[in-house]
Amino acid sequence: MILLRKPEEVQNLITELKSSHKSIGFVPTMGALHSGHISLVNQSTSENDFTLVSIFVNPTQFNNPEDLKKYPRTEKQDAALLETAGVDAVFLPSAESLYPNGEDSEHFDFNGLENQMEGKFRSGHFDGVATIVQKFFKLIQPDKAYFGEKDFQQLRIIQELVKQHNLSVEIVPVEIKRESDGLAMSSRNMRLSPEMRNESTEIYRILTAAKSFLKFNSIQKTKEFVKKEFAKTNLKLEYFEIADETSLLPISELKENQKIRGFIAAFAEDIRLIDNMSLN
Ligand code: AMP
Repeated sequence: MILLRKPEEVQNLITELKSSHKSIGFVPTMGALHSGHISLVNQSTSENDFTLVSIFVNPTQFNNPEDLKKYPRTEKQDAALLETAGVDAVFLPSAESLYPNGEDSEHFDFNGLENQMEGKFRSGHFDGVATIVQKFFKLIQPDKAYFGEKDFQQLRIIQELVKQHNLSVEIVPVEIKRESDGLAMSSRNMRLSPEMRNESTEIYRILTAAKSFLKFNSIQKTKEFVKKEFAKTNLKLEYFEIADETSLLPISELKENQKIRGFIAAFAEDIRLIDNMSLN
């Protein structure tokens, strides 16, 4: 596995790969890797000649400096995991090399996709995400790039970025990978105390219960049900939203053939967890 730290090293490698007509799969991550990340990696290695994984804790997508500081960093372990998974190259850039003119985001308009849920509660988050993904796409020019449905809104925003800028990369969505008790895998889970780790399974339980509840109840009643269920736990619900899968607009009534999803953000003490589930 090739280890790259400088954008120029990536540029040289990509020139070489393009001249030998190798297809490039790209998996952007923030490290502290788990099996969820590896399922993206496995899909990339099976569909491309060359797989490049980036590990970069992107400062511009953090609205909370404390969250950025506490974000887990496990570089050595990550590199070993990626090597075992058969990754061809890992890119570990410094913030200075990607933001030579200071850590600023570009401002994006994603037709309202950016204003709901995570966008509402994490101001500037998606400008930061789109800024860094755009930089990576320019540099790496991947044929395919892999994004987890764990961050469903992020996935939709990247699809919109590609559409608006007419980029030639194919965005491949990958299903949420869960622990055996249902908790969505996340780098943040390693910061949970044993009690909170246990409590966090409530997120999946309540999402699943909401899906059943919605079969016989209205959207509004289902939202109230979720709030009440969270009130019985030691988690603090930030939001629960039921939204159209494409527009991400919250819905109040279900239209025929409309695909909808439930979206949750909740705090386990100071650790913010998100999850989502198709509701039909
Ligand atoms: P992150 O390192 O959290 O920025 O995640 C990097 C990529 O892995 C993103 O596309 C995430 O959506 C995806 N990812 C993270 N956790 C999971 C999971 N449990 N299942 C599927 N994909 C995931």
